[in-house]
Amino acid sequence: MASPTTVFPEITSSVAALRASFATNKTKAVSWRRKQLLSLYKFLSSNENLIQQVLFKDLHRPPAEVSSELVSTINEVVYALNNLSDWTKPVPCEKNPATLLDVIETRQEPLGVVLIISPFNYPVNLLVAPLVSALAAGNCVVLKPSEVASHTEQMWVEWVPKLFDSSCVKVVTGGIQETKWLLEQRLDKVFFTGSTTVGKSIAQTCAKNLVPLALELGGKCPVYVDESANIPVIARRIAWAKCMNNGQICLAPDYILAHTSVAAKLSSSLRASFKEFYSANPRASKEYGRLINRNHTQRVAKLLARQTAQAHSKVECGGEYSVEECFVAPTVISGVKPTDPLMEEEIFGPVVGIVQVSSVDEALNAINARERPLSIYVCTESKSVVDKFASSTSSGSLLVNDFYFNMTLEDMPFGGIGYSGIGKCHGHAGFLGTSSDLFYIN
Ligand code: NAD
Repeated sequence: MASPTTVFPEITSSVAALRASFATNKTKAVSWRRKQLLSLYKFLSSNENLIQQVLFKDLHRPPAEVSSELVSTINEVVYALNNLSDWTKPVPCEKNPATLLDVIETRQEPLGVVLIISPFNYPVNLLVAPLVSALAAGNCVVLKPSEVASHTEQMWVEWVPKLFDSSCVKVVTGGIQETKWLLEQRLDKVFFTGSTTVGKSIAQTCAKNLVPLALELGGKCPVYVDESANIPVIARRIAWAKCMNNGQICLAPDYILAHTSVAAKLSSSLRASFKEFYSANPRASKEYGRLINRNHTQRVAKLLARQTAQAHSKVECGGEYSVEECFVAPTVISGVKPTDPLMEEEIFGPVVGIVQVSSVDEALNAINARERPLSIYVCTESKSVVDKFASSTSSGSLLVNDFYFNMTLEDMPFGGIGYSGIGKCHGHAGFLGTSSDLFYIN
């Protein structure tokens, strides 16, 4: 990452104040941690309307979708509150004859000042989840919400000082230059959620001072649909997963590898499911979201135009867009080839391509020829196919005949591998990620 070109003295002094607060040791008291988490719990559970409003302004998100996301966000806080005592207890270590009479244990120590950088697509959940871990572990925190989801960013600016001990939790707003300057401050941990490209440059900056980091990144999550799959059911699930938050989900099914014998049926079932969910006119549907801004809509529209210029592929449904309205219709494109434009980058929008494969091995080869994804979805009734995927692929998660439900399990470690991420978050894994083992021998 190129060095920052701008200096932000107010950021430098905010970080210095956080360091001074951490040095007082007050964040180490479990009662302090509990107080911060309880305040967050109260805010989330009594401000559903406010959160629905900001997410509607930023992402046009349907209120029901926001409510279900809010439940899992609140559960994250509750889970930490319920387990804080256990997580913070010293863990005895096995002794050897030389240490039989000693107290030997590991204790989880907070790291210091943790920087949390969050993306635009889930500007509440993806700021709160790492914050819960960092507070539970007794750290001071600097939050850098996405400037792109500006209404939610403003909500945090207004509420964070009211919710938390303001000498220990601060918000820094801004974009690339501010984030670069923050990273120069040699923080004690960086927790970044965002794109792989930005993640790589953040890792380079952290490496200069050996700052530990977690990277929750993106990529292309494949779906394999074989000849045994229950196509109408699978199509509904793919349609739901693809259009939640208008496809702006790191775990979204990005492309489908469909067995040749079911590809046509899958296309027509997807078309039927999109129509059932969002009507023949999705632009008018209250259940249908929008892309975050015109730039992102333009990006998806360009990808669509390049793909539809390929004579071998066919738009099965959708294809319409309006950059002005940040609208792209739910779109299925069949006959996509592995080297096509749609397969070049993470789509991050309501468009899905179907690539035909003639065997499970062809699907496995196609997946393994790419970077390791955040998730792989296998749609099949065959246990041996599932076993083959489990033993022959590598990804952050592997789900069978379903989507996303790993995200709703508070203690299921979540994260990617390779280009889809480094480190795990949620529950105990998140707590361990923002603390370090102190080996205590007395
Ligand atoms: P992004 O990488 O553009 O931005 C993320 C954050 O980094 C923002 O706060 C932004 O201000 C900051 N940033 C942007 N460019 C920067 C730079 N050059 N230097 C320093 N900081 C910079 O990501 P986005 O567009 O907000 O989010 C979409 C991406 O995030 C997708 O790739 C998606 O897959 C990924 N994502 C991953 C997860 C996960 O849990 N693995 C979750 C959500 C989103």
